[in-house]
Parts: sequence; structure tokens; C-alpha cells
Amino acid sequence: MIKPLLFALSLLITIGIFAWTTRRYVNFFRLTKPFPVGNWVRRFGVMMTVAFGQSRILRKPVVGLMHALVWWGFLVILIGSIEMVIDGLFGTERALHVLGPVYDVITASGDVFALIILIAIIAFMVRRIFMNIRRFTGIEMKHISHQDANLALSLILLLMVSLLGMNAFYYMEAWGHGGMVGVYPVSQHIAKWFAGMPGGAVHAWHEVFWWAHILLIFIFANILPYSKHFHVFMSVPNVLLSRLEPLGYLPNMPQVTEEVKRMMDPNLAFAAPAEGETAVISRFGVMDIEDITWKNYLDALACTECGRCTEVCPANITGKKLSPRKIIMDVRARMREKGPGLVNDKAYADGKALLRDYVTEEELWACTTCNACARECPVNINHPSIIVDMRRYLVMEEAKGPGELNAIFTNIENNGAPWQFSPEDRMKWAEGIFINA
Ligand code: SF4
Ligand code: SF4
Repeated sequence: MIKPLLFALSLLITIGIFAWTTRRYVNFFRLTKPFPVGNWVRRFGVMMTVAFGQSRILRKPVVGLMHALVWWGFLVILIGSIEMVIDGLFGTERALHVLGPVYDVITASGDVFALIILIAIIAFMVRRIFMNIRRFTGIEMKHISHQDANLALSLILLLMVSLLGMNAFYYMEAWGHGGMVGVYPVSQHIAKWFAGMPGGAVHAWHEVFWWAHILLIFIFANILPYSKHFHVFMSVPNVLLSRLEPLGYLPNMPQVTEEVKRMMDPNLAFAAPAEGETAVISRFGVMDIEDITWKNYLDALACTECGRCTEVCPANITGKKLSPRKIIMDVRARMREKGPGLVNDKAYADGKALLRDYVTEEELWACTTCNACARECPVNINHPSIIVDMRRYLVMEEAKGPGELNAIFTNIENNGAPWQFSPEDRMKWAEGIFINA
């Protein structure tokens, strides 16, 4: 009786903290601008290929396969975690055994995946700590980023050790009583290491590993939203809601479209704004966190900090200041900094902005909009969209493009073309060479 009570209490605390965190994020999302989504059938296909099929991760065969196995293993082990919650609340043991042969497949694959994940995580930690992998470095990769990654990897390691320990002692205990359910191809071998242990000790160790595993899950679930490993939760929705247009497509700004429509319609051009409609557009482009769309913010939360985007960025490779990973991490950091103030007061200002205090003009103009970063990102983040939106702010609100672009803009305005010639002179080059204008 005491076990279900203790379990219910720890589950309640976990849900309470998680609900508080979720509310905080929902409030942050409320600060953002709309972003249209549709075409759910195609979205579902993209989610199955990119998120569940891990198609982009698998472009790197060895590391990609290891990561994909960890992800698929998590999905299988999740079923076992749900079973533990049922067992914990109702005092049952291995409640999902009612699934019969399916249960054998679930337990066997979960047991094997636990070992695979354990080995993969050790390999990931060795790579991170002892090998100088370029994509794990960069100005945005501060000490805290590495600590964050190592903490999450250590927790996953402990989760797998406790899972295998729990299965091994369950196997010993249940085998002795003849009431074993499920199949444990890995743990049954681990169990042999403890052969001869008294029954009471086996039971006690099973309880220790059971509690250790479920409490680690609860702790992990509440640490994740504050870590880069939040992508465990956010990557699937981010891929589902990703942009479906071809890479490189730049959408028109709805505010500009609206303005042009108004100008073309004499009835609207001079009409007074309708009730509830603002006559002045708040801002063109993105200057600070309240200008981003909810998709920009979802991108920032889904970023795994893997560095695949920066690794292929031609600007970064050629020594420019730009790192697409940094831009995405900056969005997340700025929301963390300014978001709480804005939640309490829509007019809150702290004298800083995403533009310049986080992302400099130099970084923005270094981007060639080649889209290599967006093509490579395993969770379908679109970096150029926010880079271009910040540029739009600079050009449209502050007239601060690079010198060459400003000259082009002036020419387009004055001559209707990017060149510094009057439209009347445009065909001068053809004079005397028998070409009709
Ligand atoms: S933006 Fe994408 S590719 Fe870049 S670090 Fe984040 S998850 Fe990796
Ligand atoms: S689109 Fe910009 S940020 Fe992305 S890879 Fe190309 S240059 Fe780098």
C-alpha cells in the first residue's frame, strides 16, 4: 500500500513541476506572431520520414545510425515506462503482459535497445569529451552548453543502467517463482553475474533499480525543458509543423502586401481605419523577440545544438562571423531573458534587443541565403527565414543595408532598375548594332 502512495506522490510532484514549465512556455508562445500551417497530409509524411525515419540524421552513416538507434530505442522503452506508471499507481507487476506475444516483442526489443543506447551514449560521451569534433565548438558553444550535454548524456546512461538492472533482478526473482512474463535477452545474461544471491537481496535490488529508473525518468522529464535535450520533446512537433515550401522560397511580408493592396484601391487608400484596426503597422521584420513567429520560437526550442548547420555554412567555413546555430540559440536565449518581463507587461523593455545585443549586423549580412543550413538540419529548422526577417527590419525600418545594397535600392527607386542609368538610356548600348528596342 505504501508503494502506490509514494509513487502517486512523486508522480504528482513531477506533473506539477512539468505543468508549471509548460505554462511558462505557453506564455512565451503567446508573445509571438502567427505563422500559417496547412496541408496536414504532406506534413504527416514529412514527420514520418524526417522525425521518425531519421532521414537527415542518417546522412552521416555511422554517427547517424547510432543516434537513430537511440531515438528508436527511446520510443520502445517509452512503452515500458508507461507500464511502470500503471504498476506504480495500481500496485500491479508488469501490467502490460496482457498483450501476450506483443509484450514479449516489446520487452525483448526494449532490453536490447537499452544495451544499444548504453553503448551509443558511452561513445557519444567519449566523442564529446576526448575528441576535438569541430562542430561541437564555436563562440556559441559556451562551457554551460557542454555541461548541459554531458548532464543529459549521464542521465540517459543511468537510465539504461537502472533499466537493465531492474530487468536482470526481475528475471532472477520471477524465474525462481515460475511467474515470469516477457523476454529479456540481455538482462538474463546480466542476471547470471548475481547467481547465488539470496532471494531477499534479489527482491531488494529489484526495488532499488525500479525506483531508481522511474525517479530518473521523472527528473529527466523536468530537466529536459531547460536543456538542449528539449529536442526530445520538441523535434517531432517541429518537423510536423516545418515549412513545406521549397528551400530558398521567401514569403511576401503580409504587412507589405496589405499596404500595396490599400494603395491600389482608392476606396481603401484614404479610408479611416475600421474599429479595432491599427492605422500604423507595428514593425517590419524582426528586431526583438516579440516580432518573431511562433514557428521561429519552436525552431529555437527544437534545436539540438548539433552544429550540422554551422558545419556546412559557407560563410562560417570561410571565416565569417556567422554561425546559423548561434542565431537559433540566440532566439532561445533572448526569449528566456525578455519573455518573463513581456508576459507581465506587454510594453516591457529592458534596453536590449535580439538584433545587435545578440545577433550583429555583420552576422546577418554574411549570410548568402544558400539554405545549406536548412537542408542539413535534422529537425527541419529554417535559419534563413529569421535571418532575412532581421535584415528586413534593418532595411525597411532603419534603411541600414550594406552600402552596395543601398545603392541598388536607390537605383530601383529612382530608375526602376538596379543600375545607375536613367530608364531612357537603357537601350543606348544597342545603338548602331541593329537591334530594335
Ligand atoms: S539548427 Fe539544426 S542543424 Fe543547427 S544546431 Fe540546431 S538542430 Fe543542429
Ligand atoms: S543560408 Fe546563410 S546561414 Fe545558412 S548555410 Fe547559407 S550562408 Fe550559412
